[in-house]
Amino acid sequence: MSYRIGFGIDFHQMIEGRNLWIGGIKIPHAKGALGHSDADVLLHSICDAMLGALSLGDIGEHFPDTDPAYKNIDSKILLKSTYDLILQKKYRVVNIDSSVCLEAPKIKKYSYEMRTLIASILQVELDDISIKATTAEKMGFVGREEGLVAYATVLLKKE
Ligand SMILES: [Zn+2]
Repeated sequence: MSYRIGFGIDFHQMIEGRNLWIGGIKIPHAKGALGHSDADVLLHSICDAMLGALSLGDIGEHFPDTDPAYKNIDSKILLKSTYDLILQKKYRVVNIDSSVCLEAPKIKKYSYEMRTLIASILQVELDDISIKATTAEKMGFVGREEGLVAYATVLLKKE
């Protein structure tokens, strides 16, 4: 049986006048994430981890931010497309662990909904998706609420 591990990381600026999408959920907040797509930092890190696990490059190669097709696109579509690539390679997701690093807002209360959504797209159980949240203790760009970061690790198993 063949297993592959992947790691993904993603950053976005946080600015006023944008929606804040994290883990496929729109979170009420004064600032949102800046990006070509909906700038969902968590889903992007998960896509990158899945691509990385099979050495398929990164999210920027598959969904370039210069392509108008991806302007303001729902990142759940990108996650589904990435999952389809994994399936084409005869792999399935075993589990995902992730962390989102942002100063505000608190996202813990949304994590169940995010996990449910991601699990349904990737055809795994709720317990196979872990989403943690942390602040940067007021330090650096995250601490100043200029941006946010997400990290994800994924394990894939060959069918
Ligand atoms: Zn991103």
